[in-house]
Amino acid sequence: MGKVLAIANQKGGVGKTTTTVNLAASLAATKRKVLLIDLDPQGNATMGSGIDKSQLDNSVYELLTERCTLDQALHQSEHGGYDLLPANADLTAAEVELLDFKMKESRLRDALTNLRDKYDFILIDCPPSLNMLTINGLVAADGVIIPMQCEYYALEGLSALVNTIQRVSAVLNPALQIEGLLRTMYDPRNSLTREVSEQLSSHFGDQLYQTVIPRNVRLAEAPSYGMPVLTYDKQSRGAVAYLALAGELVRRTRKAAKQAAAVND
Ligand code: ADP
Ligand code: MG
Repeated sequence: MGKVLAIANQKGGVGKTTTTVNLAASLAATKRKVLLIDLDPQGNATMGSGIDKSQLDNSVYELLTERCTLDQALHQSEHGGYDLLPANADLTAAEVELLDFKMKESRLRDALTNLRDKYDFILIDCPPSLNMLTINGLVAADGVIIPMQCEYYALEGLSALVNTIQRVSAVLNPALQIEGLLRTMYDPRNSLTREVSEQLSSHFGDQLYQTVIPRNVRLAEAPSYGMPVLTYDKQSRGAVAYLALAGELVRRTRKAAKQAAAVND
């Protein structure tokens, strides 16, 4: 069964979408079957996957509000080699409409029921807030990847996110775990970056990915061509870093599966 990972941080601009798109493409490049779910009404992951958000007949919005089937909402990324459930501004309305549904927090999980065994990884790009859409992402997920910049205020926001994850895990989704913290736009020359990085390491230990994503202009340019960086410039430091992250994720997943098998023996 596929692993479902929410990419979440209520702070905007920390690299959630960049991570979701490029991790999806990197996992696909290693022959994994990948689905990207865009859960942000800004539709940046949709555009970054080469799909025009203004031309969608069916999207995550129609899916969550039962206006279309899963097959109708499924798209393929233009260059990334992964499938996509796209989003656009319509999704803003879903936030309010969802409140009328029973089990409003698990709409996405229910919609994915028959899809999980078709993919190795399902990556969910969450919006920059802790709203009902993000809650749907967390309830549908097995793990959360938290991208963050190593700056002073980053740590402040982190506790609200960790609390939300703990609450969702206690009430709605006991399987939910923090999969990993990812340092993005990393600049080792900056002493504050190194300091925050050390704090993260001592506080989160193994949950901190060893892979760091450097600040790399190619990562910022690629979305305007509707491409992951791997297609746009596969030699770039950004492309190499996201391939390394995919490798680390796959190794960790394999190790966890082995440990679980050993416990069950
Ligand atoms: P979020 O989804 O968390 O709001 P984005 O992934 O959209 O964040 O990133 C915010 C901005 O920073 C975007 O313009 C993106 O292209 C840029 N960006 C993200 N990661 C990097 C990076 N490692 N190097 C350079 N620019 C980056
Ligand atoms: Mg985003």
